[in-house]
Amino acid sequence: MIVDNYRQRGLRNKLVKKLREKGIKDEAVLAAIGRVPRHVFFDDALLIHAYEDKAFPIGEGQTISQPYTVAFQTERLEIKPGDRVLEIGTGSGYQAAILLELGAQVYTIEYNQKLYARTRDFLPTLGYKPFFLSGDGSKGYPAKAPYDKIIVTAGAPVIPDALVSQLKDPGKLIVPVGNLEKQAMYLVTKKNGKTETETFDHFAFVPLLGEQGWKK
Ligand code: SAM
Repeated sequence: MIVDNYRQRGLRNKLVKKLREKGIKDEAVLAAIGRVPRHVFFDDALLIHAYEDKAFPIGEGQTISQPYTVAFQTERLEIKPGDRVLEIGTGSGYQAAILLELGAQVYTIEYNQKLYARTRDFLPTLGYKPFFLSGDGSKGYPAKAPYDKIIVTAGAPVIPDALVSQLKDPGKLIVPVGNLEKQAMYLVTKKNGKTETETFDHFAFVPLLGEQGWKK
């Protein structure tokens, strides 16, 4: 049974306050973080850390992203209700839950089979129902393209071409790009047949694997 009591809600409100202090302004994004019970994505041993602004292990050598990073990537995408969003790297499902809270239609793809199966079975028990896909998301998911927004939650060596080509016009793609230790956040905006790229300071993600990632 999922327990979400006044203590956890209080910790969540403090986290939202901290994200606001760190520069997150989009009230819809902050409200979504205030609603999603991050602690239920944690193993018992790590539960006390659930509302710290840090990334934590979720098994299989992977992590649930830092709340600031989730908020930052989501804010840059300017999600509108009804947007079709492709997420590369389902992981725990926390980011997908935030996108669903914002009214997006979410397609989320995971490379690691165990994480894919675990999250596909778990997330709907919280009422969050994205389309779960398994496979190499560095190539996107052409069968359901184009997407209004694409979010990559693992660090890529380059901006995957496949993702840019699966973006609608207008559309936005956010992807961390760099080496295996740190990456800059790239925001690619497609508009009137052109693409523009903005970059933001450094982040640290687990590697994007696959054909347009760091291979295996
Ligand atoms: N969005 C996740 C969350 O909210 O918990 C955090 C994701 S974790 C930082 C990165 C995830 O990307 C891992 O689960 C990893 O297995 C996955 N991944 C890495 N390369 C991938 C690829 N080519 N396609 C799909 N998923 C990939």
